[in-house]
Amino acid sequence: MPKDRPELPPVEELLTAAVTAVGGVERPGQVKMAQAVRDAVESEEHLAVQAGTGTGKSLAYLVPAIRHAAESGKAVVVSTATIALQRQLVDRDLPRLADALEGLLPHRPDFAILKGRRNYLCRHKTAAGMPEDEDDQLFDPREVSATGRMVQRIQDWADETETGDRDEIVPGVSDQAWRQFSVTARECLGAQRCPSGADCFAELARERAGEADVVVTNHALLAIDAMEDFAVLPEHDVVVVDEAHELADRVTSVVTGELSEATVSLAVRRAGRLVEQGVADRLQEAGEDLRALLGAAPPGRVDTLPQSLGLTLSLVRDAAFACITALGPRNKDKDDPENAGLRKAAFTVLDDVHDTAQRMLDAFGPAAGGTGTGGDAPGAGASDSGGPADGGDAEAEEIHRAEVVWLEEGRGRVPPTLRVAPLSVGGMLRDKLFGDRTVVLTSATLALGGTFDSLARQWGLRPGEWTGLDVGSPFDHPRRGILYVATHLPQPGRDGLPEAYVDEIAELIEAAGGRTLGLFSSMRAAKAATEALRERLDVPLLCQGDDATGQLVKQFAGDPATCLFGTLSLWQGVDVPGPSLTLVIIDRIPFPRPDDPLASARQRHVAAKGGNGFMAVAATHAALLLAQGAGRLLRSMDDRGVVAVLDPRLATARYSGFLLNSLPPYWRTTDPGKVREALRRLTADL
Ligand code: SF4
Repeated sequence: MPKDRPELPPVEELLTAAVTAVGGVERPGQVKMAQAVRDAVESEEHLAVQAGTGTGKSLAYLVPAIRHAAESGKAVVVSTATIALQRQLVDRDLPRLADALEGLLPHRPDFAILKGRRNYLCRHKTAAGMPEDEDDQLFDPREVSATGRMVQRIQDWADETETGDRDEIVPGVSDQAWRQFSVTARECLGAQRCPSGADCFAELARERAGEADVVVTNHALLAIDAMEDFAVLPEHDVVVVDEAHELADRVTSVVTGELSEATVSLAVRRAGRLVEQGVADRLQEAGEDLRALLGAAPPGRVDTLPQSLGLTLSLVRDAAFACITALGPRNKDKDDPENAGLRKAAFTVLDDVHDTAQRMLDAFGPAAGGTGTGGDAPGAGASDSGGPADGGDAEAEEIHRAEVVWLEEGRGRVPPTLRVAPLSVGGMLRDKLFGDRTVVLTSATLALGGTFDSLARQWGLRPGEWTGLDVGSPFDHPRRGILYVATHLPQPGRDGLPEAYVDEIAELIEAAGGRTLGLFSSMRAAKAATEALRERLDVPLLCQGDDATGQLVKQFAGDPATCLFGTLSLWQGVDVPGPSLTLVIIDRIPFPRPDDPLASARQRHVAAKGGNGFMAVAATHAALLLAQGAGRLLRSMDDRGVVAVLDPRLATARYSGFLLNSLPPYWRTTDPGKVREALRRLTADL
């Protein structure tokens, strides 16, 4: 990139050239957004932009981003939540944009995609065969052969690939198979020491990113770059976070720690080859104690630290520490790459076990956390701690608590797992991500209840530190769409889908002649509705899980009579313009489950501080998903249709105003006759 500061055409001129080149129509919202992004970058002020579907928001941020990169000589980072958007940017938008702007800028804009190290094939692991991590004895023979076939496919692909990017492998491969060929950033030997360092795919991707004007990445890597002491992304002063409504959740996933018998067993297997038997045995025994304890405990949030759990976590932590000590200095094998790889792999997982156990103890306060370093002090601290709830001021505890610990029940081969996550990632984001760069956050859904405040709070931004802009939508929502709330139905209960809901769905689908996307709040409800309606309706009915989701969406989009029912990933991931999607049915307001450990802990935390926990957490979560779900209806200017919400609380509950204000401004009705009539008319016109 040039380091001089050339005089460049204004953003408006570049945008016009870009829109003309892609054969699109310039829209007022798009121009407004591009200007706002330019102003934010120039004034170094964080900006949140809500831009409805059809605005052309990727061009609206890419054009000022590329202009800034050309002017400043620094890359701009664009972060997405989904692979689909990443692909759209890299395969479609950016190449077209580069062609369009080439003659107007000092050089052709270039771009690169950068993912976390574990997404690239590790040539060293592939060639040298670093530790086989899986315990074959646990495998079901069918799974062994399925994994074996995937391993073979990866090996064949490894001989040909030029990028080493896991996403190139179609169909995809399981994490279990991929782990045999990849390393995490912490396991990597470092390009200087690694015999394959010169050809390393991850290093090559970083190099390419270092030369690009626009680096496309994901929220997880963005968070890691912001939080770690070392730089993962190239130097940059501007970040665009697209699909920003997902930022807090993605960052929470990155910083969630987990501990289970499987993690400890992996540490034992890796350490077992390198330390004395007795030291590894001690960790194995601690892992067995953990398995027994977690297997017998009820799943859910752990509010107070039971003495037995405190003791076991301390045992695990101290036994891991003993293994770490026994491994000796970390750089001992710097001239022996094979051994260095084995030791690094062992250090990584042992550090993880040690640090996570300590973190879980710390979550219950200093008394539970203990000193936490002594291989010679098993059980220090926690064994004599009854946790924070043995009297004292529970409310004060709640306010000061920073992390939540919960137990997730085992499923199939996955054993019961203890997890720990922060109550909020806002402070972390504020310090690390927003601290020393300009951040533009955008999505079709950012204004909940009519304001950006809920999401700004999740991001840790305070009033005065950011500006918000809603550029609206080019769609004429009140004329093109109807929001129907079935107030005559009973409230949804705990015992599955009420019979009246099934009848209502059947009548709506009949009126629409198929063409329905059913968004359910649980897989159980989606399956129950599918089963009940397959018998009653003549139209083809697909249910998530029948096939790969992408395949089902393709089938649904290809045949107007077909209906598709499913749950969470469909709420946000379906983009089907045209008559195949004329009716969106939502069975209930998608509040988090009452036993969701993180949401319930966050809710309680807000309440303890005097706020409205329900509105701040549950209603905000529901509003975001509802807006995403309702946004599936209109995907192009010609689309028309109905969003039908069967849960009457959307029209009657005290919080309904907040939820309704989060949705696109469709024409509203509660009259079932009118809606069925409208659907019949609509489909007759098609
Ligand atoms: S540098 Fe790291 S990721 Fe790259 S080949 Fe070597 S060990 Fe693997």
